[in-house]
Amino acid sequence: MRRLRNVKIVATLGPSSDTYEMIEALHKAGADVFRLNMSHGSHAEIRDKHRIIREVEENLNSTIGILADLQGPKLRVGVFSEGSETLEEGARFRLDLDETEGDANRVCLPHPEIFAALEPGATLLVNDGKIRLKVIDCAADYANCEVITGGVISNRKGVNVPDVVLPLAALSEKDRADLEFACELGVDWLALSFVQRPEDVAEARELTKGRAAILSKIEKPSAVDRFDDILAVSDGIMVARGDLGVELPVQNVPPIQKRLVRKCRAAAKPVIVATQMLESMIESPMPTRAEVSDVATAIYEGADAVMLSAESAAGEYPIEAVTTMDNVASEVERDPTYTQIIEASRTADRMTVADGIVAAAREIAETTDIKAICCFTQSGTTALLTARERPRVPVIALTPLVRTARRLALSWGTNCVITGDVDRFKKAVVSAVQAARREGFAGPEDHIVVTAGVPFNVPGSTNILRVAPCDESLIFAADPE
Ligand code: PGA
Ligand code: MN
Repeated sequence: MRRLRNVKIVATLGPSSDTYEMIEALHKAGADVFRLNMSHGSHAEIRDKHRIIREVEENLNSTIGILADLQGPKLRVGVFSEGSETLEEGARFRLDLDETEGDANRVCLPHPEIFAALEPGATLLVNDGKIRLKVIDCAADYANCEVITGGVISNRKGVNVPDVVLPLAALSEKDRADLEFACELGVDWLALSFVQRPEDVAEARELTKGRAAILSKIEKPSAVDRFDDILAVSDGIMVARGDLGVELPVQNVPPIQKRLVRKCRAAAKPVIVATQMLESMIESPMPTRAEVSDVATAIYEGADAVMLSAESAAGEYPIEAVTTMDNVASEVERDPTYTQIIEASRTADRMTVADGIVAAAREIAETTDIKAICCFTQSGTTALLTARERPRVPVIALTPLVRTARRLALSWGTNCVITGDVDRFKKAVVSAVQAARREGFAGPEDHIVVTAGVPFNVPGSTNILRVAPCDESLIFAADPE
């Protein structure tokens, strides 16, 4: 589906968005990637959503990315008999290992390792830090707490323990089972929560065995400290501002966001800015001015994608939230200041022939009246390098591999077209011209730039660039093979 913007939109699916009609409407409104949150919902429910997304994709003849988000060593409370409770400031609240449903006085916290590490005086933060509890006394299987800041606590809300170093493995038993399930189902991206070190990513990669690309969520202080090493072994990054803003002072989040987005672009790896982007739209059809500004800021910074969490998963206005992001993106990208900022922050660090070719393609496209840059890509690398240039004209990634196209759904400005197997450059140019015309990027009077690697099917071999007319001359000149 052709979009009139470059930044991508990731929408989390949940109870507000689990029907065919809703998923189709969200995709039409602008969602390019759907996020399946493994923390919520059974495997059967996830399988249903996955099937519906693939049906929508097929029926609309579109390309949709699917991102499965592993819970990671995230600590969560259990469930309440009423679904939720309101904790009053000054009250007592007990956390324990008892799996029976919780009430106003207690709830299960199914993590013995927390109780082992807690000490009286430690702070526990619940629900993105909205509720603050102080430990009064504790033992191996409970903690009695005083409610310092009250609020609504509901089923499976997250818990952070900023004062205590918890010896947690990168992937829990549940994560390993979820990872295998998601890979078998066929997802395009696997997101790892609470990554702390590059070894955590390596561990997941070993289990994934190439079946999905790996995205590291940066939400721990240690991940920020070791970011360069983590980026080097990841395929993409999420600036997971929810937990990041709980684990670190909130005012540290904006500078970290800026730095991470720049580093990801320099590395030609997609980066998502996530969490609370349009939070008020969970309950309101209109965003606040500050939220609109936050979405705009991420786009001005050059992020590949912006994300909706509860807004699309559990809110009352999922379509309106996607539409808002789409509108903000279109407006920002029309602003000449956006182009200025994006072009001023272009990385100059080019090392390979492919780097040179994509830079030349962008240069030619921008100095002459070229309508699109078409790149042939197997692994997606050439498309990622082209996207890193952030050209002013659309990028069309042509690939014979559906999985490459779906992964690229997350990348800035990349429009994917599935081609048949192409073995000769002349044929490649013809299919690029046909794709550009069919998808409405160019007309018969126009020209496009085509890049490819010859011989074909050798990854990372981009070495050829051609400016091609889009009239019938090339199409008729091609051998009918
Ligand atoms: P979550 O991750 O929604 O899975 O917690 C995103 C974040 O922490 O920002
Ligand atoms: Mn998180």
